Amino acid sequence: MSELHGIGVGRAVAVGPVLRMAEPLAPPSDAPLEGSPDAAIESVAAAVAAVAEDLELRGEVAGGEAKAVLEAQALMAKDPSLQDLVAGRIRDGANPERAVFDAFEEFRQMLEGLGGYLAERSADLGDVAQRIIARLRGVPAPGVPTSDEPFILVATDLAPADTALLDLDVVLGLVTSEGGPTSHTAILARARAIPAIVGVAGALELRDGQRVVLDAAAGTVTVDPDQQTLDTAAIRIKELAERAAAPVTPGALADGTKVALLANLGTPAEAAAAVELGAEGVGLFRTEFLFLGHETAPTVAEQTAQYRALLEAFRGKKVVVRCLDAGADKPLAFLTPDAEENPALGLRGLRALRAHEEVLRDQLTALRDAEAEVARSGEPADLWVMAPMVADVAETEWFVDFAGELGLATVGVMAEVPSLALQSEQVLASCAFVSIGTNDLTQYTMAADRLLGSVASYQDPWHPAVLRLIRMLGEAGAATGRPVGVCGEAAADPQLAVVLVGLGVTSLSMTPAALADVRAELALHDLDHARELAAAALAAPTAEAARAAVTAAHVP
Ligand code: PEP
Ligand code: MG
Repeated sequence: MSELHGIGVGRAVAVGPVLRMAEPLAPPSDAPLEGSPDAAIESVAAAVAAVAEDLELRGEVAGGEAKAVLEAQALMAKDPSLQDLVAGRIRDGANPERAVFDAFEEFRQMLEGLGGYLAERSADLGDVAQRIIARLRGVPAPGVPTSDEPFILVATDLAPADTALLDLDVVLGLVTSEGGPTSHTAILARARAIPAIVGVAGALELRDGQRVVLDAAAGTVTVDPDQQTLDTAAIRIKELAERAAAPVTPGALADGTKVALLANLGTPAEAAAAVELGAEGVGLFRTEFLFLGHETAPTVAEQTAQYRALLEAFRGKKVVVRCLDAGADKPLAFLTPDAEENPALGLRGLRALRAHEEVLRDQLTALRDAEAEVARSGEPADLWVMAPMVADVAETEWFVDFAGELGLATVGVMAEVPSLALQSEQVLASCAFVSIGTNDLTQYTMAADRLLGSVASYQDPWHPAVLRLIRMLGEAGAATGRPVGVCGEAAADPQLAVVLVGLGVTSLSMTPAALADVRAELALHDLDHARELAAAALAAPTAEAARAAVTAAHVP
């Protein structure tokens, strides 16, 4: 038995055999054909038939949209003109792998030239070629492995499409050697409630079939576990299943201190599922997600319809809507300047809105109209609006005045820039509430681009420097009697959620899938204990030490 360590996502435990994600194939060699061309052509035909059959089978199992895509891939693999291209290259002396590689590329370019649907599908040809070459080589096809038996997937990292398409009936958990707590893999794993450990040194030494216990709460992967470890894991899995099935109650600490548990949403369509999972309202509605890809600003009417649908789903509840946060990772053609060297430090968030006041006016007008329309047809929703990327008191006052003049009643700001946190008291004295965006607050405190893999290790909201800024905001909230929420990824980390409450945070907003874990963890601690854990994290020198200090002092 041995143990590997990484950053856990969620609280779950999973036990199962490892299956490694196959590495991308090395390109085929240029070595000339050995042996008879006819035998080579036959071997390719057999590989093509097997791959097509496999794709059709996977389509049957997946159903829905995936079925249509996979069937189209199978048809492409069997296309006679493509087979002719391969055969021609083999007769000209190419080895089978090289012939497949080059012929598929030629065919891809031809389809692309035709435009329309065929051009769109042509991108899939690369994947089909890789599968055929893998079969010729006798190695597993690249990508997520297929298996009828449940397994724990081990990979360097996963592409977002891989994580989004994982079959949760067979993938029990994820272990990756790369990635940090806010990497795509971690965010998607959290959103899909897949237990994961990311950034595990030594993960790639795990072998297919080796049994492991993955403990996301502890951030450990136990390899070849003994019976006692397996028994403990089985008890934890049972407890967690009971916890997931527990009645959905409002968020509270063990002593009854209320901590509202809210949802982060990007479209009104996500509302029903969030309510089902016990969201007490919406803590962050990312409005820019509605308009990504739009060339021109949305009209007031178009926006009113969307906001109305959202508010109707949360009648009688709080709904915090963020004004368009354009720029950096979320460019909007009608707001974002074209060429900035450092877009994260450029004209984004409120800065971009101030440069296009008409867009902000239309958005706030639409929000006010939607609120009024919903109120006229039944119980109103409690609409709060906030601005992203606010730098200081002056910008806070500007936004509060602007929104107030348009008739919005509850106006606040996001705390994402350290300069705003450093002016906490004055900021909270000038607006109704603050919501801390820990993703950006961490990026700007640590001066590390949150999109850049090479500096991903800095993007850790457990860093005591980030926690100190949060404490300043929490204390200012208590002094002014105004709410201070968190809506960044940090709120979805159950242990960190307790620390945040200990720092003075009054509500937590997260991807709905994380609500049950955070609810259960909060219920284990009273406020004094949350404050002790917060003090332990603040006193630590590094993010890792803060996490370790809280894990060590975890039992209430
Ligand atoms: C944040 O920065 O923490 C946040 C919630 O906003 P976004 O992730 O959309 O930038
Ligand atoms: Mg942000």
